[in-house]
Amino acid sequence: MDRKDAEIRIAELRETLRENSRRYYVDNAPTMSDYDYDQLMHELENLESQWPDLVTPDSPTQHVGSDIDAPMGDNAEPLSRREFAQYPHRYPMLSLGNTYSIAEIEEFAARASKTLSGEDFSYSCELKFDGTAICLTYRNGRLVRALTRGDGIVGDDVTENVRHISNIPQVLRGGNWPEEFEIRGEILMPYESFDRLNEQRRRDEDPPFANPRNAASGSLKLLDPVEVGRRGLWCTLYHIPAESVSFETHEAALDAAASWGLPVSEHRRICHDIAEIEAYISHWDTARKSLPYATDGIVIKINQLRCQQQLGYTAKFPRWAVAYKFKAEEAVTPLLSIDYQVGRTGAVTPVANLAPVFLSGTMVKRATLNNADQMALMDIRIGDWVHVEKGGEIIPKITSVELSKRPADAAIPQFPKVCPDCGTPLVKAEDEAKYFCPNADGCPTQIKGKLIHFMGRKAMNILAGDATADQLYNRGLVRTPADLYDLRKRDLVTLEGWKDRSADRFLESLRNSIETPFDRVLFALGIRFVGETTAKELARHFGDIDSLASAGMDDLLGVPDVGDVIARSVLEWFAAPAHKVEIQRLKAAGLHFSMTAQTAASSALDGKTIVISGNFSISRDEMKALIEANGGKNSSSVSSKTSYLLAGTKPGPEKLRKAAELGIPVIGESDLRAMLPSGKATAADEEDFEPNLFGI
Ligand code: NAD
Repeated sequence: MDRKDAEIRIAELRETLRENSRRYYVDNAPTMSDYDYDQLMHELENLESQWPDLVTPDSPTQHVGSDIDAPMGDNAEPLSRREFAQYPHRYPMLSLGNTYSIAEIEEFAARASKTLSGEDFSYSCELKFDGTAICLTYRNGRLVRALTRGDGIVGDDVTENVRHISNIPQVLRGGNWPEEFEIRGEILMPYESFDRLNEQRRRDEDPPFANPRNAASGSLKLLDPVEVGRRGLWCTLYHIPAESVSFETHEAALDAAASWGLPVSEHRRICHDIAEIEAYISHWDTARKSLPYATDGIVIKINQLRCQQQLGYTAKFPRWAVAYKFKAEEAVTPLLSIDYQVGRTGAVTPVANLAPVFLSGTMVKRATLNNADQMALMDIRIGDWVHVEKGGEIIPKITSVELSKRPADAAIPQFPKVCPDCGTPLVKAEDEAKYFCPNADGCPTQIKGKLIHFMGRKAMNILAGDATADQLYNRGLVRTPADLYDLRKRDLVTLEGWKDRSADRFLESLRNSIETPFDRVLFALGIRFVGETTAKELARHFGDIDSLASAGMDDLLGVPDVGDVIARSVLEWFAAPAHKVEIQRLKAAGLHFSMTAQTAASSALDGKTIVISGNFSISRDEMKALIEANGGKNSSSVSSKTSYLLAGTKPGPEKLRKAAELGIPVIGESDLRAMLPSGKATAADEEDFEPNLFGI
């Protein structure tokens, strides 16, 4: 590879790694497996070591992944927040160098021996717990602070939340602990709590978490510490910074921590050579499957603290430790049948139904096959035994077919020629891997999919889920999003399970959705390839829908991150006469189709300091923007200077208590809206406001 090619590949790798790091750390919703991510990172490291002058300080190889100062992501829960106080770490919280190969562990040991020549040292081998890192500070035997890793330099203060994790002691046992010390470890969500939480999220029509790691890190950032306590989190501690205590070995430091009542793993083992390390790895490769929580590898640390200090750190890792990561777990199971699912964009995805098999702590029954090409490449047959792998993603994937077990009657699957839902012949563009149902405006699954997308939390945030979309469609009440705004209460109360109150709430939520800013309205329209970020860029660039609708190819290509594919999709969407009618109807319903008209500014809240707490019909950030647009000031804590505590559903108990103590008025969303010029007072009692509670 010459320098020019290296430069291009480095840019591509950085971009992919940054995007996936955001999905992993910020959205808590990874779409790539850890193995694939790590392979790309290693490729980048190799290229940068060949061309050191191409290394930049912002390269993902130069710093740990950060979840700080980032917008809320897809899997962010309504109760999660981004406004924790932040404090610097006394000692940076770094990541670990990792490898999937025993040979590289041998190289690590050889390097350590060379640097530490003449020293008598051993290795502490430990499980690599798959959760989210935490740093606890104890002063005079009491827990005084808990910080997340953040960006490694500064962490979020989650002390109140951590106090609700049952196995973290508030007060230490005995008395021989240092006056002040730090101890680091991992917050985990055991499989049992994870299954319970995802079951609840499915019932609430919230997206389930991809894995226990994401669930643990999402839960640690909840607004309500009591809710954190209910999530069944668990902590294990594995490191006291050598600078913080005066032990000779890592092992002695952890043994002491255990004697003070701190949760330290019992599965540690001191190894003296590579053979013992390998035996430990091979034991836990199998034994970890019966642990009640997720582990993703083994950590090997130099045990002597003096030697650790001698080896030191890189910008990203300690040189005295390394992680051996297990490849994603795999299982082999028979393929029973294949379903062909139509998505909201018309893409048809084959989904395998498998004989249930236990994998990474959960029972797997379905796996994705991606597309017809992939099926053909694997030569997959119904009845085959297939290898299933579960990486970071929520849906496991089939990686290969076990040909040695192919039954004689295994049948070649027939990819459907027509849409399994509406019967329209499927089409496939030359440059696409997927088949599509072209009946975008007539195929029931696509219509319902578009409605669900339009009403979604990141789009118009209308209080309804899949079941509501089904009912509205099946009764012929709604075909396009604009029909939603023509709904009348008399139509809704005839739907099964709906009462006066649920109809009122639904209508109120529809009225509130009219305030949704233009960029989110654009995202809600469901134009293919126009995700949240692209919608923001397009809205910012064109300012209003008419300018966007009349834009040509070149205008569109002038928008950051818009390439041929997106531009073509936008042009096609606006060219359809049905979409022109739809926009006219949505405009008539009052939706915002320009950047400027979206927040009616006023001075109605001049001089008022408002603290918001809980959930509202719009996101917390939007509520804050609404307050500011009307002259009010937001504050994060209740004090004597607070004018109102604006409480949505599940407000923080601490804030309510403080407001009561100081005699600060507590108001609901409808009270606030009534103060604004548009004066949208609503009949619903805000205290009872709850998302998705139509009892369907
Ligand atoms: P990491 O999770 O691979 O390893 C470092 C972490 O291990 C430490 O910060 C600590 O929290 C934890 N740990 C667990 N047990 C430990 C023990 N006994 N001793 C010491 N530390 C222990 O590193 P990371 O920096 O947190 O995350 C980077 C990794 O995250 C990548 O290697 C990748 O696998 C994954 N990732 C995946 C995606 C994706 O899209 N799938 C994106 C970004 C990152």
